[in-house]
Amino acid sequence: MVQLSLLSSIFISVYLQAKFIHMPFSHLGLSPSLLKALAEQKYLQPYPIQEQAIPAILNKKDVLGIAQTGSGKTAGYVLPILMNLQGNTSTKNRHVNVLVLVPTRELAMQVREVFHVFGRDLLQRVKSLAVFGGVSINPQMMALQGVNVLVATPGRLLELVESNAVHLSNIDTLVLDEADKMLNLGFKEEMNRIFALLPKKRQNLLFSATLSEDVNNIQGILLRQPLVIKIEAEENNIDLISQLGYFVSEEKKGPLLRYLIKRNALKQVLIFASSVYKADNVADKLRKNGIDATAMHSKKSQEARTEALSRFKSGKLRVLVATDLISRGIDIKFLPCVINYELPRSPKDYVHRIGRTGRAESPGEAISFVTPEDQHHFKVIQKKMGKWVTMIDSEGIDLQGY
Ligand code: AMP
Repeated sequence: MVQLSLLSSIFISVYLQAKFIHMPFSHLGLSPSLLKALAEQKYLQPYPIQEQAIPAILNKKDVLGIAQTGSGKTAGYVLPILMNLQGNTSTKNRHVNVLVLVPTRELAMQVREVFHVFGRDLLQRVKSLAVFGGVSINPQMMALQGVNVLVATPGRLLELVESNAVHLSNIDTLVLDEADKMLNLGFKEEMNRIFALLPKKRQNLLFSATLSEDVNNIQGILLRQPLVIKIEAEENNIDLISQLGYFVSEEKKGPLLRYLIKRNALKQVLIFASSVYKADNVADKLRKNGIDATAMHSKKSQEARTEALSRFKSGKLRVLVATDLISRGIDIKFLPCVINYELPRSPKDYVHRIGRTGRAESPGEAISFVTPEDQHHFKVIQKKMGKWVTMIDSEGIDLQGY
């Protein structure tokens, strides 16, 4: 089932060619060492956001990017920032040059990794660090020595500033990544306190999946004649995802899940549950049935979350059962299958969840379990998404022994 038919592969390849034929990276003004790193990472062609953002950022322009994870926005700002830093890093210790504010720990680590991967072979080394709450502050204070690029969640950054572990007066470039999510999570006050600590003259780059009123207010204050780039990444991605729904009763969800994983020999599955309790419960039952699974949610320690995500990303963990905590913002390469064990409440969250699969050049499959009580709600979701999902009645499947 997870295998795509030849026809749909052809369609996807034609679609991708139409979408992604662009100017090569070598025409965007990047240095030979960055071009070499891009080739090593198998980034063959720039994505649309990169094609537009890279030259503008190199020219020290402000940028407003309306784009989601999956659009390639991270490399879109990381590459030109690394380039601008060559020969321009601060000599004062603990005075970082670039500040990237992000809403979650997971995104902080992910963005820092992109800085690290592209920055490690540059002529002038760029030191980057991710800091976030939920873990001890002392190692972060020590690690801040000589850092040029700091990727931070707002609360922890302010704690570090208050303890004089870092100074923001030399910031050349400020990036707000997933600004809408930061505002939704209630970071507005912290963000304003941080803005007040920055020098007036600086470059501002703001990325957001949506342009809400709050985001608009912030961009009005921060940005000077920005280049506006709008990428409808997730809507486009929907076409890359093969979606399927199963009518199933609540009691049969467990057996149906095990049937799908075992019968289709699924190797890497992200399952969404609506509560911490349910996520734990689904993961427990899978393990009892010999399927390697771990739950990831807000009640798990940061260490456990990091470990689960990294095992899952590297293919060592077969099933990750998550709450909506990680439905936004986290990019997992080549994730072939997402299962909604329970439907999310909002159609937007549905799109975000299934957007974990079918990103960039790797098509994937999204499966949703729909109980009789969910049927009306699932219709609403499909209507909002503008796409109808093929439904299968699980009554016709022999679940004996699963
Ligand atoms: P992002 O939206 O920044 O989270 O990126 C989404 C995914 O696309 C990540 O896995 C990137 O490594 C990958 N990616 C970004 N740009 C390119 C590119 N030009 N070519 C191939 N993969 C890319």
